[in-house]
Amino acid sequence: MTSLEWDDEAEVVVVGSGAAGLSAAYTAGRSGLDVLVLEKSGAFGGTTAYSGAGIWLPGNHVVREAGVDDSVELGLEYLTALVGGRTPENLQRTYVETGPELVRFLTDTSPWLRFIHTPFPDYFPGKGRFDLGRGLFPAPVERADLGDAVDQLRATVAVDTFGLTAGHPADTLVGGQALIGRFLRALKDVDNVELRASSPVTELVEVDGRVVGVVVDAADGPRRIAARRGVVLAAGGFESDAQARRDQHNLPGSDWTAGPVGVNTGDLISAGIALGAATDLLDEAWWMPAVLFPNGRAAFNVGIQDGIFVGPDGKRFANELQPYDRMGHALKDYYDKRGGYQRVWWILDSRHPSPPSYMQPAPDEAAFREAGLWVSAHSAPELAELIGVPVDALVATLTRYDADAAAGADTEFHRAEDPYDLFFVRFDRSKALHPFDQPPFHAVQIVLGDLGTKGGLCIDEAARVVRVDGTPIEGLYAAGNTAANVTGAIYPGPGAPIGTGMVWGYRAARHIAEVVAPV
Ligand SMILES: Cc1cc2nc3c(=O)[nH]c(=O)nc-3n(C[C@H](O)[C@H](O)[C@H](O)COP(=O)(O)OP(=O)(O)OC[C@H]3O[C@@H](n4cnc5c(N)ncnc54)[C@H](O)[C@@H]3O)c2cc1C
Repeated sequence: MTSLEWDDEAEVVVVGSGAAGLSAAYTAGRSGLDVLVLEKSGAFGGTTAYSGAGIWLPGNHVVREAGVDDSVELGLEYLTALVGGRTPENLQRTYVETGPELVRFLTDTSPWLRFIHTPFPDYFPGKGRFDLGRGLFPAPVERADLGDAVDQLRATVAVDTFGLTAGHPADTLVGGQALIGRFLRALKDVDNVELRASSPVTELVEVDGRVVGVVVDAADGPRRIAARRGVVLAAGGFESDAQARRDQHNLPGSDWTAGPVGVNTGDLISAGIALGAATDLLDEAWWMPAVLFPNGRAAFNVGIQDGIFVGPDGKRFANELQPYDRMGHALKDYYDKRGGYQRVWWILDSRHPSPPSYMQPAPDEAAFREAGLWVSAHSAPELAELIGVPVDALVATLTRYDADAAAGADTEFHRAEDPYDLFFVRFDRSKALHPFDQPPFHAVQIVLGDLGTKGGLCIDEAARVVRVDGTPIEGLYAAGNTAANVTGAIYPGPGAPIGTGMVWGYRAARHIAEVVAPV
């Protein structure tokens, strides 16, 4: 190989500009390495820019200083009890132990990387759980203060996926907009990092078992870019690959992911597999019960406060208020046991003007009604007719639910018993479990959505991609949803996708900076 074979070069090439990619790029840049971030789309931020940007990193100093008596030990005890042997124990330990170090590094090295604690409960019972959470979020920030750093920040999901431009761009950035905006601004202070949009990476270049560069499908043709120390794959999952979603998840396609349309198609997972990388968890995702919108897409439906879900048989099948990934898994099981997609309805009475959850965006009632996605009736039998479920079954379901609610205990699915179920109704059980006594009744369609897939390339403690025999592929790292997630099939608490992604991005960059010699 000679330098003449390359069109461009950097010490570190980062593929993707979500939380995992920017964590890697920032860390590598601050370590003095020269970094090139290649982003497939025309905007930076990926799914992360749509997110609430909770970041699950137990024991970090921001949360501790806010008065939460959290620690690495508690976080690790909680996580390992849940995940068990489903993923390597050393990776679980490394993830949790690195969290506080990462948050300290970010806050110490840039005035732009600022975080706050916001209560948001963990998702499972168990020792080390915090009922009010250990939630870490980016501090909101004024867009104007970030200057031209955010000119190419990906818009919100409401704008991108649903075409709702009112209030965009917002003056104050929150959640994923703030996290990516803050990273982009912090990167402006690091001279040796370049971000390049509209640069889809299509291939990895390997020489003698080591990854030494990538091929980009640039507007004017393929470009070969050398990576003299390493390539960090942070290109999200395969949530937008319709065929892979059919094959791996038995879904009709990829329309119900809440991630950016058509962007994360698993390109670099495939490229890693082609080099012999091991994979895991391909049948998993960060699931959630999504509300189906008239344009065929689905919205993240978090913090459900009321109503029940019924399937085509008119019966409930799970505790509707449980954490969204657990409800998503219940929905997935429900589909799988019946051979695939099932039409599920969210049944409500009239005490709420619209479906009660923190949905992004809120549904437009008129458009939903026109599309048949929101129907109403004055009685349960009438509603059953409208939504095509057996009348007797829906009436029986509501009769039993009403009796349980009146008695104060959900004898079927134990709803309103876990602190998470009560968090979004301010711990008022009477709001979480009450009879359907305010007609008319409403039904809104629910589908199995996701916040990204979580299966991908297997990595080691340094985030190096490993082969089936466990040996690392030199020069190749993976983070975020491109990597098989350390949490296995578990979503332990708010911010696990971004928390894990940022940790492995950081660890990849540290390893490249501290251990790898340039080629
Ligand atoms: C509405 C919503 C709310 C959420 N809230 C939270 C939350 O509060 N906390 C949390 O932890 N998670 C949350 N999630 C999930 C979380 O946002 C994602 O799982 C996570 O951000 C993924 O990060 P990532 O860096 O792996 O991928 P992404 O952020 O998706 O970034 C991947 C990037 O790679 C680029 N890319 C893809 N292919 C290529 C290629 N071939 N070449 C170059 N670039 C490529 C993409 O364009 C994209 O910009 C939420 C998701 C949604 C949709």
